[in-house]
Amino acid sequence: MLTKAREILKKYYGYDEFRPGQAKVIGSLLGGKDTVAIMPTGAGKSLCFQIPAMLLPGITIVVSPLISLMKDQVDALAGQGIPATFINSSLTGAEAGRRLQHMRAGHYKLVYVAPERLTADWFQAAVGELKISMLAIDEAHCVSQWGHDFRPSYRNVGTFIASLPARPVIGAFTATATPEVKNDIENLLALRWPQVHITGFDRPNLSFSVLRGENKQQFVMKYIKANANQAGIIYAATRKEVDSLYELLRKKGFAAGRYHAGLSDQERMSQQEQFLYDDIRVMVATNAFGMGIDKSNVRYVVHYNMPKNMESYYQEAGRSGRDGAPGECILLFGPQDPMLQRFLIDKSVEHPERKQHELKKLQEMVDYCHTPDCLRQYILHYFGEATTNEGCGNCGNCMADGEQVDITVDAQKVFSCIYRMKERFGIAVIADVLKGSKNKKVQQLGFDQLPTYGLMAERTVQDIKTLVQRLLATGYLRLTESEYPVVKLEPEAFLVLRSEARVWQKVFTERQPVQDDSLFELLRQCRKRISERENIPPFVVFADTTLREMSQQRPADLLAMRQIKGVGELKLQKYGGEFLGIITAYLTENIAAASYAEVAAVSAPTKKMAAKKTSKADSEPSHIVTLAMYRQGLDLEDIAKSRDLTVNTLQNHLVRCAQEGHAIDWDRLIPTQYEELIIAAIKQIGTGQLRPLKEALPDDVSYGAIKAVLCKHFATPGKS
Ligand code: ADP
Ligand code: MG
Ligand code: ZN
Repeated sequence: MLTKAREILKKYYGYDEFRPGQAKVIGSLLGGKDTVAIMPTGAGKSLCFQIPAMLLPGITIVVSPLISLMKDQVDALAGQGIPATFINSSLTGAEAGRRLQHMRAGHYKLVYVAPERLTADWFQAAVGELKISMLAIDEAHCVSQWGHDFRPSYRNVGTFIASLPARPVIGAFTATATPEVKNDIENLLALRWPQVHITGFDRPNLSFSVLRGENKQQFVMKYIKANANQAGIIYAATRKEVDSLYELLRKKGFAAGRYHAGLSDQERMSQQEQFLYDDIRVMVATNAFGMGIDKSNVRYVVHYNMPKNMESYYQEAGRSGRDGAPGECILLFGPQDPMLQRFLIDKSVEHPERKQHELKKLQEMVDYCHTPDCLRQYILHYFGEATTNEGCGNCGNCMADGEQVDITVDAQKVFSCIYRMKERFGIAVIADVLKGSKNKKVQQLGFDQLPTYGLMAERTVQDIKTLVQRLLATGYLRLTESEYPVVKLEPEAFLVLRSEARVWQKVFTERQPVQDDSLFELLRQCRKRISERENIPPFVVFADTTLREMSQQRPADLLAMRQIKGVGELKLQKYGGEFLGIITAYLTENIAAASYAEVAAVSAPTKKMAAKKTSKADSEPSHIVTLAMYRQGLDLEDIAKSRDLTVNTLQNHLVRCAQEGHAIDWDRLIPTQYEELIIAAIKQIGTGQLRPLKEALPDDVSYGAIKAVLCKHFATPGKS
């Protein structure tokens, strides 16, 4: 059965390998066992019920909470050649009837249904006559009050199951792993001896950071400017905050959208759609946005405010990097954030025991924002996973070493001013005094007589406020929870005043954004054209990762195109030729035609290109020409012959390309069986000289392989 599953994975999805956990879940469902799959967002849960659905004899009903996204999900399946439909309140009675008829005629393997429909008489009557092989419940945590997304309509699922004449196998899917939620899923859905599969919660391609007391607006503006080509989400805590940030971004000319529960259904739909279609690059939203948004190319998620608990945070942040390419998750922590969340919990949760529970979770969220240790370890530990003590090397705390500035003197000025104002005023008045403002209140209170008056005259008031915020967020100061919050000094601040401790400020290290080449951009445009023509979102045509692989591998024919991850059979048929055309045209334009004349002798598909010689290409640097030929699949020996260069020179070319940021297929240069050995030798002998390394290794390890390992594993970027 699993062999069949693997065939479907390749044929319909274009993937060679299952991700961790997928094969087990599929096997369990195919074995007829009720199954709970707890896998993080982006792990690939959909495929775990879609593939069994294809293999089981009857229909699979998929319960999903998101009416607005069902059409996209079903379109995506259709685009892969998987027969599916949906039934929800957006359809007319006649259309729903038509679909039921098709169901009876066996036209669909998968039918997505909104939970509200399940208990409708007409639906139950229709379904009673059909063979239902499986019921898949997506976002199954919605059944639980303990979850962060409780939906009463999910309680229908249990009733529905009980009403079926023959009980299908049941699969429940969620990213929430708390024991309360898991128990609710098992009990409220009346699962029978369920197999529970929990895969690791780590998402290694995501990097996490927390910035405390940052000037949030400034940060966001700078950040989206630097990432203007990427899709991202900014989560804010309230509608008001969403609206004002959205207005600001629009005013500054960013392609921003917004989403919150205060907008009309129609506007929400339209905003969501534009985001899915890449017309809006950054979505400013409350937590109402995002569940079920399977957009795979979201590159960053910034939290403008701290969310109420770690479950919400990880779920929301996890919407970045679903395609497996890097995603960045940044939380902007402000000192008012915990107060706001506490206020919201107070207002919304009545039951005292639940309130206690929520407050405890909130505290754990606040702790995340303050931990000096590895953020990933904190997250994994929180979700009950065993962790080592080693940092991950890919979070703000693991990477912050050395990226700090000393702000002790500024901090002393602030503390001293607060002290002299007797700790009885809020942020605004403190900033006014430090600025040396002439406002009435300051003068009436006699603060213009203080020695700290005007101590920061050269800075803007906003700047000073940000500094105070930062000191609040890092625990040197505290805000009282009164109607007019007052700033108090914490014991650490006195240490600083007495010069017994210093204050450091972490600097946000901008990561190098993924450098996409111009071919990638062309492929992206092609994808957009198809998306508009077929009325499906671009990422449904192909994922970013698929386009990136195309732009690096540059397949020369459909056979090579078929090897690209994410290119299944139907998509190859439908789009393969179009994308190949783009790649061929690009190569013709850009590659040194002269060298291609020689290549043409060995590589037939490139003959056409060689004929269309372009003069512009003559200026292409030699190492880039090597890279292009190498990517065409030519061996270094062949390239050496046709270009009259030594293999050694070509190896140096490729190393140089790697240092310049081009992706190199190392596996072709490094014999896998020796990779570990070479790494060990380098660790022992050092990276300084090649000869001693060569001598320490077996004879058939070439200099080229050693150079490649050095470059792949020990490279210092920028050095050549
Ligand atoms: P989840 O529902 O768990 O959040 P999805 O089912 O939406 O995740 O899958 C996230 C992304 O991962 C999708 O773009 C999907 O195509 C991709 N994906 C799933 N399984 C695989 C796999 N085995 N190999 C490569 N990509 C995969
Ligand atoms: Mg999902
Ligand atoms: Zn870390």
